Amino acid sequence: MSSWTGYAFFGKRLSNMKKPKLFIPGPTHVDDAVLEAMASYPIGHRASSFSALYDEIVAGVQKVLFTKNRIFLGTCSATGLMEAAVKNTVRKRCANFVCGAFSKRWHEITKSSGIECDKIEVPLGHATTPDLVRKVLDAGKYDTVTVVHNETSTGVMNPIYDIAEVMREYPDIVFLVDMVSSMASIKVEIDKLGIDVAIASVQKGWALPPGFSVCSVSEKVMDRSKEMKHKGYYFDFLVMEKYAQKSQTHSTPSIPHMFGLKTQLGRIFTEGLNNRFNRHKELANMVRSWGKNHFSLFAQKGYRSDTVTCMNNLPGFSLAELITRLFDKGFHISGGYGPLKDKTFRIAHMGDIQKSDIEELLSVINETMKEMNS
Ligand SMILES: *Cc1c(COP(=O)(O)O)cnc(C)c1O
Repeated sequence: MSSWTGYAFFGKRLSNMKKPKLFIPGPTHVDDAVLEAMASYPIGHRASSFSALYDEIVAGVQKVLFTKNRIFLGTCSATGLMEAAVKNTVRKRCANFVCGAFSKRWHEITKSSGIECDKIEVPLGHATTPDLVRKVLDAGKYDTVTVVHNETSTGVMNPIYDIAEVMREYPDIVFLVDMVSSMASIKVEIDKLGIDVAIASVQKGWALPPGFSVCSVSEKVMDRSKEMKHKGYYFDFLVMEKYAQKSQTHSTPSIPHMFGLKTQLGRIFTEGLNNRFNRHKELANMVRSWGKNHFSLFAQKGYRSDTVTCMNNLPGFSLAELITRLFDKGFHISGGYGPLKDKTFRIAHMGDIQKSDIEELLSVINETMKEMNS
């Protein structure tokens, strides 16, 4: 077992406590095999052993994403690649579809990069629908679209297959998708859907420690990138491509993450992609039916996430106390995000969380709620 000592933000000395298992929507639980791989002695990033590692990771990620598109590795969290995606693509104007805090973040990133853009927002708990996308794009103002697949702050999973169907009617518009909390946990076939850039950090559905990210990038985006000015260097897809040709990164990457990702890809293929995707559906059903019995679900019916469930709080119930009590018992769940902080709470069933973990968690929550009521 990896060691765990430290201070949690609850302010208690925890070194004698059980390591709290992560049921928060990132970072998620990491398997010991991955942690051990990350502790390997470094290799040089211009060595041939590095290029072999690089190629293996790229091929593995392509398989998980059902794509032949190029894969870029980011030594940054997904937010960095979200910035890269808009800086490399938007010539005219970007439509940022917003349904919660993370999709809103992409709008802020676009705006602060000096790019012309509009926020197209739906109420929290609602999804970005294909009809809305068509209505907005029909105006002819936009050459780029940003959409979040799984809005982690509200537990809404946007209907990405149906949205992709609409995007097909606009072949010149670039389709950028935040897949941070769905990639490697939910099946999304990048090439079939025509997604131009798909982005994820590794600390969510990939179940690695934070600090690294991956994206797939289409040929259409590379063509756009050639015309774009002032992209900077670190996030220029053309610079990334130049090094990718040599199976390298432009600067020293987080090599420990690459060791970890290689090991994790092996674990994912051992489980089997379909088994992995089905496991997430099963876990989501378990948490949703529990949530309906004890609370109520925040996200609109028909658009509920397979990786994170957001529950409405009950009147007079102390979520803060529940979360603290669970933490003391070794289970870390999450409160609501931003404006939903005290109104909702979230349980992630993402990455490497198993059925037995959710069974245990839900029974401990039931027991804890009884304690709180007595
Ligand atoms: C976590 C998250 C992000 C931000 O990812 P970082 O790794 O913190 O940069 C963006 N979008 C979604 C949907 C997320 O869940």
